Amino acid sequence: MSTHVDGGNVVGATHHVNDTGVASGVGTTALLVAAARAIETHRHDSLAQDVFAEHFVRAAPASAGWPTRLRQVPDGDANPLWGRFARYFGLRTRVLDDYLLQSVQATGARQIVLLGAGLDTRAFRLDWQPGSVVYEIDRAEVLAFKHGVLDGLSATAQAARVPVPVDLRADWVTALTDSGFDPAAPTAWLAEGLLFYLPAAAETSLIATVDRLSASGSALAYEVKLEPDLLTYRDSPLYLSTTAQIGIDLLALFAKEPRPDSAGALTNKGWSTSTHTPFDFTHHHGRGPLPEENDALAGNRWVFANKH
Ligand code: SAM
Repeated sequence: MSTHVDGGNVVGATHHVNDTGVASGVGTTALLVAAARAIETHRHDSLAQDVFAEHFVRAAPASAGWPTRLRQVPDGDANPLWGRFARYFGLRTRVLDDYLLQSVQATGARQIVLLGAGLDTRAFRLDWQPGSVVYEIDRAEVLAFKHGVLDGLSATAQAARVPVPVDLRADWVTALTDSGFDPAAPTAWLAEGLLFYLPAAAETSLIATVDRLSASGSALAYEVKLEPDLLTYRDSPLYLSTTAQIGIDLLALFAKEPRPDSAGALTNKGWSTSTHTPFDFTHHHGRGPLPEENDALAGNRWVFANKH
């Protein structure tokens, strides 16, 4: 297949690749985020650009029929999934892009670890400092699908990119350090759209491990859902439309147990943390989702942590 990057678009026919990792279960959520990023990329008032995103969507049979442009959605912005929820992912992408770039600038960190990387293309999209290494941790099948798509595009990473195929409920530290990660050097960590899929004990352990592997100067951003009972919003437009339109029942995939206080745990370990609603950034950027009745996003928080 002949493909090249041209004027911000990746040009070329997308071929179908082995989609085992994203065909069902939590892997499909990576395709959902990719479709949202594709839509965001082509908005006139785009908050984030990801020219690779639509290629993932086209390559997987599970998502090949999904929209990658808002004009393909009959009710456009009024659609709870491809309008408001996709905009949420666009805003999240932008905010975390900005945080990572500001963090590596401020701290000098040259190691970036994407936990539950999914179809995140930040290794390709962002302008990393020379000598940076981006470690991408996800399940082997998800990374295999990702590589099957990226290999067909003439994409050039802006940093050394190291895939780390491992389950985050297993011993991922050995896999990461065997891949060259250096715990003595500061790291910028990201857990975007991940923690609510993990059992509470796995989140607690993951946060403690991130702390243990973080030298002074490290930074971490992650997303949580703080509502005491996720099922409060089970009949919200967001959950209902995601199930009805693309067959992804997010509530079935989320871990239902009470969540740990990860920000508190980090504070106790000497990190400074700040917790924001997505809507804080909607106001900052002048676009993005706003609160609404029966809102499945009501408990979402983005947490930013820095180790001194
Ligand atoms: N962070 C990416 C982004 O925002 O584009 C992907 C988010 S996607 C909603 C969730 C990702 O977490 C999926 O790629 C899934 O495979 C990964 N994931 C969920 N549970 C995991 C686990 N136990 N071990 C490794 N990865 C996991």
